Amino acid sequence: MDNETLTNEIGRTILVQVPEGLHARPVAQLVALAKSFSATLELQHGETRANPRSAVKLLLLAVKQHDRVTLRAAGADAHEAIEAISRFLEDTGEAADPHRAGGHAVPPVSAAAASNPLPDAANPPAYHGRTYHGRTYQGLGGSDGVALGPAFPYFRQVIAIDRTPVPPAARPAQRAAFTAALDDVCASTTTSDATASQIKTALIEIVRDADWTAGIAAMIDAGVPAVAAVLDAGAALAAQFEAVTDAYLRARAEDVRGAARAIALCLTGQRDPALSEAPPGAIVIAEDLNAWDVADTDLSLIGGIVCRTGTPAAHIAIMARAYAIPAVFGCADVPSLATGVEVALDGATGSVVVQPDPQERAAILASKSAWRDAQHDLLHWAPIHPRTKAGHAVQVAANLGSVKEIDAAQRAGAMGVGLFRSELLFSEHRRPMTEQEQFETYDQVARAFADHPVIIRTLDIGGDKAIPGIDIPPESNPFLGWRGIRLCLDRPDLFKPQLRALLRAAVNGNLKLMLPMISESSEIQRTRALIATCRAELAASGIAHADPAIGIMIETPASVLLADELAKEVDFVSIGTNDLTQYIMAADRLNPNVMDLSRPDSPAVLKAIAMTCRAADANHIPVSVCGEAAANPTIIPRLLACGIRSLSMSPSSILRIKKFLSETPTL
Ligand code: PEP
Ligand code: MG
Repeated sequence: MDNETLTNEIGRTILVQVPEGLHARPVAQLVALAKSFSATLELQHGETRANPRSAVKLLLLAVKQHDRVTLRAAGADAHEAIEAISRFLEDTGEAADPHRAGGHAVPPVSAAAASNPLPDAANPPAYHGRTYHGRTYQGLGGSDGVALGPAFPYFRQVIAIDRTPVPPAARPAQRAAFTAALDDVCASTTTSDATASQIKTALIEIVRDADWTAGIAAMIDAGVPAVAAVLDAGAALAAQFEAVTDAYLRARAEDVRGAARAIALCLTGQRDPALSEAPPGAIVIAEDLNAWDVADTDLSLIGGIVCRTGTPAAHIAIMARAYAIPAVFGCADVPSLATGVEVALDGATGSVVVQPDPQERAAILASKSAWRDAQHDLLHWAPIHPRTKAGHAVQVAANLGSVKEIDAAQRAGAMGVGLFRSELLFSEHRRPMTEQEQFETYDQVARAFADHPVIIRTLDIGGDKAIPGIDIPPESNPFLGWRGIRLCLDRPDLFKPQLRALLRAAVNGNLKLMLPMISESSEIQRTRALIATCRAELAASGIAHADPAIGIMIETPASVLLADELAKEVDFVSIGTNDLTQYIMAADRLNPNVMDLSRPDSPAVLKAIAMTCRAADANHIPVSVCGEAAANPTIIPRLLACGIRSLSMSPSSILRIKKFLSETPTL
């Protein structure tokens, strides 16, 4: 009915107040509301009309907060429908909780918590599949610790697409198989995470959309095999979402592709592994992993990670360290293994043993328990503010990428947050976050470390960090491309909500803002201009906000060479040794073959660090290090010698480094 005019209709123009507009969650709620009336309904935005009972059509209307829409209704309960839907659209949701829109709560979806016991430490599990007995593989140690557990191979299935036309007699069976697969996928789309469950509820509305499923049914009736029909229709719908200008809606394109793939796998009887199904203590074996792969997973349940590619400087390695998960990267030869095969790994040395023999097993278990004891003893250092033997007080702060890491950082006695990687929040949510969601998150972090500085880094998207909904055209050198501040300044639609959220959260007083990938001072000036606009907007709307300190990352060679000039424009600098090493040494941080060059203690990098420190000192601003070198005892003496008194690192390194700083006689 989208383009038809309703007869005997009544209508109303509505100013939409739903915070952030009609995105996935409010759309799911609006669909449910529309379905509770029998009236024929139509919502018009600009020239486009949609049936409010179709989630897809509603999403594609791309209605934002403060847009005007026209609602039309005809039928017995048309008045009631107009009243109820208007109330929903006009509700600012201010009285509601952050996960509600329009004051209509979404019912929670309960989680099915899968849990398999760990193998008995003393008795190796009997595994009756292939034998890999005693095979040892070498990779790069990426996150300290020893792990022993059942393998959980995480390799995506390949779907064979057969396009041979289906004979008419077999088409009804294909239709029935499609319907059953759709039901299965919808039934299995549950999660314990409240926000994720609401998004998935919306996703179910999308894949159940009458037009979309009717399109697939029509293709099947015309002889297209069900698998091909589903994947083609998924690709076509995803393309429609990708064409919308709104970043939040574009993120749905990836969801639609994922849902179509899930239905196709169901039809072929295949199944992609889901990390959330790994039994507690499992060792994940993968080609590679990224933040998005682990977004739905309780990382604290993962026993260990072995990746064929990647290096300790990859972002998944940084996440593994944040969660103290022993991990090995660049282990190119490790086989895909069968589920449950016992694997041991040492995240410090990078060795991986498949089906260790009894002697190997005993040695692994001994070093595992020694490692645990050592971790326990380190807790003594949590409340200590370290001071070197030479009398230098050193701040040891945490690098975080999720509010889930706050506890671990607090347990380790983190003296604030030296780097909050805000883009990892977006990965965790699988979409750009709204201003309100960001405000609540930054506010939570600032309050959790109220007595210390909390540095939130603005979005560093690009490189190896992709976010669904933020399109980055294919680049031949992503690390030299549209990344960090470059992308943000070109995308005020993304950057401004973050800046506004940061200005609002800065009201607490201890929050600071840090810009990544700075190469020249105009980037700072343009950001300051945008901040001034945000401040004026917030003031005009009477929204509380403050004026946080602004700092920059020093991670490009240009920023080192210009450090003296840049330091005059900011309140602090923080050296990102991961990228600084990559760019100074021209050695890809993800490439295991150039690992020997990727050393932050190479003379060229140390020279760059010293130059930066001199510039900071000359301009009387603080300098810290937040790259992985900050937690490296062989480099710390060089950093201290340059005058650095603030180090920020993964929570799992904090205790060890506090002890090192306090006890090392030569520091
Ligand atoms: C760095 O480059 O050192 C840094 C801290 O930033 P990231 O690792 O997130 O690129
Ligand atoms: Mg960096």
